[in-house]
Amino acid sequence: MGRFFVSGATTQDSKPVTYISTRGEAASLTFEDVLLAGLARDGGLYVPETWPTLAPDTIASFAGKPFAEVAAEVMAPFVGSSIDKPTLLAMAREAYGRFGHPAVTPLVQIDRNRWVLELFHGPTLAFKDVAMQLLARLMDHALAKRSRRATIVGATSGDTGGAAIEAFRSSKRVDVVILFPDGRVSDVQRRMMTTPTEANVHAVAVKGTFDDCQALVKAMFNDHAFRDRMSLSGVNSINWARIVAQVTYYFVAAVALGAPHRAVTFAVPTGNFGDILAGWVAKRMGLPIARLVIASNENDILPRAHATGVYEMRSVVETSSPSMDIQISSNFERYLFEASGRDAGFIRGAMGALVQGRRFELGPCAGRFKDEFGAVSASEADVADAIRRAKAGSGYLLDPHTACGLVALERTTTQAGDPGIVLSTAHPAKFPDAMERITGERPPLPPRLSSLLVDRERFPVLENDLAAVKGFVEDAVRAAAAGAQ
Ligand SMILES: *Cc1c(COP(=O)(O)O)cnc(C)c1O
Repeated sequence: MGRFFVSGATTQDSKPVTYISTRGEAASLTFEDVLLAGLARDGGLYVPETWPTLAPDTIASFAGKPFAEVAAEVMAPFVGSSIDKPTLLAMAREAYGRFGHPAVTPLVQIDRNRWVLELFHGPTLAFKDVAMQLLARLMDHALAKRSRRATIVGATSGDTGGAAIEAFRSSKRVDVVILFPDGRVSDVQRRMMTTPTEANVHAVAVKGTFDDCQALVKAMFNDHAFRDRMSLSGVNSINWARIVAQVTYYFVAAVALGAPHRAVTFAVPTGNFGDILAGWVAKRMGLPIARLVIASNENDILPRAHATGVYEMRSVVETSSPSMDIQISSNFERYLFEASGRDAGFIRGAMGALVQGRRFELGPCAGRFKDEFGAVSASEADVADAIRRAKAGSGYLLDPHTACGLVALERTTTQAGDPGIVLSTAHPAKFPDAMERITGERPPLPPRLSSLLVDRERFPVLENDLAAVKGFVEDAVRAAAAGAQ
């Protein structure tokens, strides 16, 4: 596979990149179409028709480069001719200029051979900002080309909603409506959604649970007339552009610790399998990764599937790491497609069985899944113990999601001398109640967020009622369109 660009502004060998559905029955699309479409029409997820690779000298050249430049180089072969490289670089500079650390995702050493990759320096203190900030700029660009607007509706149990509202608050073409379960997100999480004052972003409390919010969003998408009239779009974790944007920090971190000359191990707190899939993509592109370890909390569907070869849903249990309290890891479908040798028939069968009987057998994928990943489930006691030990040992404060990652890394045998990196997906101040229970102290918010707890909030509270929510979305979109004239 050739390089898609040579250097600088030379883009004549940039080609359109084609995406295909994991279920094999939807039309192929370009990067920008996939960006706006989300799910494929056959219910599948889009993946690139061929995987680009980066030569070892290209990987080595990332050493010391600004994060935004590495992002543009890693993403360009997935974007192809949809966006020229200087424009892509400008978007990345703008997106990552909003981060509170000059390295964007700094590495912090916590032990002789262990590092924490801090992904929480964005505006909402969780790793979702890394992808969402860029996604907002990519979507604005694609919509401007088509002279269109779009409406993002989503449900959040905490982190995604804030990241989406922060990312799109400066958008000129996108309206955002995020539903959250009234009284069931933390104060910090709610305030991140309800204090932005721009007219195009809306957080809505629904009198119900997260599942109720999700059902409302699904019902809006399933009403095709409403979906078309409102130009509905999604930014949930199956959006391909989010995955691609997460590949960057695997390269940045590994190169800082000696790649491509030395292989590193990553332990990744996992819910929807998005972040760890990005690690698998980095490896597929040529980054030498010794081991990719799935870190789960007590919601252990992936470690169970890893051990038994059967993917079987159980009910969700509440833990101190709520962003991983998930039973269906949507992006796992993308990995299964690859592990099965791109067998769309196998995927259709497996996903059908999951809907019908809440389980399917990994079958031909089981062996490869075992070889390519490690998988560890951390109990609540493990998490508390890891947080206390890290604090006592190095003075470093892990959040409960990151603590699952450290437990997973500690239980993985690595070659002596190989560096191990834990992805830190959230700042501990985002989960003050859990941290106080475990350490006795509430971690303070970083100074740049000091006004968050006093800023005025703005949000309606709606009944768990589809007509009421649809009415709100229509009014919001009409008002924004009038304002944009
Ligand atoms: C979303 C989230 C995760 C899980 O990421 P996936 O990409 O869904 O696997 C882990 N930690 C935090 C803090 C999150 O917000």
